[in-house]
Amino acid sequence: MPKFTRRTVLGGTAAAATTVMSPGSVLAPAHSAAPPTGRQAPGFYRYKLGSYEITVVTDGARSFPLPDTFVTNAKKDEVNAALQAAYLPKDAMTLVFNPIIVNTGSKLIAIDTVIISHYHQDHADGLVAADGSPVFPSAEIIVPAVEHKFWMDDGEMSRASAGRMEGLFKNNRRVFSGEILKRTSTYEWGKEIAPGITAVATPGHTPGHTSFVIASGSERMFVFSDVTNRPELFVRNPGWHAFFDQIPDQAEQTRRKVLDMLIADNMLVQIFHAPFPARGHMEKDGQSYRFVQAPWSPAI
Ligand SMILES: [Zn+2]
Repeated sequence: MPKFTRRTVLGGTAAAATTVMSPGSVLAPAHSAAPPTGRQAPGFYRYKLGSYEITVVTDGARSFPLPDTFVTNAKKDEVNAALQAAYLPKDAMTLVFNPIIVNTGSKLIAIDTVIISHYHQDHADGLVAADGSPVFPSAEIIVPAVEHKFWMDDGEMSRASAGRMEGLFKNNRRVFSGEILKRTSTYEWGKEIAPGITAVATPGHTPGHTSFVIASGSERMFVFSDVTNRPELFVRNPGWHAFFDQIPDQAEQTRRKVLDMLIADNMLVQIFHAPFPARGHMEKDGQSYRFVQAPWSPAI
């Protein structure tokens, strides 16, 4: 019986690798030092939905100290307890972003941004480059009619509270102007807005917040948008109101309805603000819910 120690296993691996390398190959011996890479690799994850190919893109993350009122109807201690129950650091919040690309075969569609779910910066600002030019100059942009009407309404803007809401109105007027506005058309809830993609009314996070069902062949998937932010907090505690939910009671009603529907239909869900690749299923856990990631697959 060979004796397996770390030394023999590593030595064996290096020897085996050496025998298959061509003379020109560069293979650092297993014992040589290398500087730490110090940065994360960009992430893409692809899977099939019927005949469609979906690509999930890791679009970075934003970390900040946990604000006292991140959840407006729970104490900071309770939020920290939920973070720690999910093995996340306390007193810190990291928001992650996972837009998707849908290749239907006849169309290449980006959801947040090109089909827009709602008018928050992390979903719509990607339409415009830093110099104000369109990021996707030949793309057709479609937006929820209810959402567009709200943010473009001068009366609504005049009633916006100072600070964040006022800033959002200004930002949305900046993004949806000029060339971008010329390329923008609105869509209605309940309609098929692109091949196999139906807009679903999920208001509350914003007045016109929208989710999507993508159907291809016999397969269907729900694109969650911001029905919740991080599932470790808001799927686990669907009654919690995130400070950026504009109409909190309606957002909670929508959240509970969507979670129950996903469970009743055993439906695959793709989540914008869940850890990459953010694809999986919901399950009920007493009065609460849980998001279960689908296993990573090495093949499409
Ligand atoms: Zn968002």
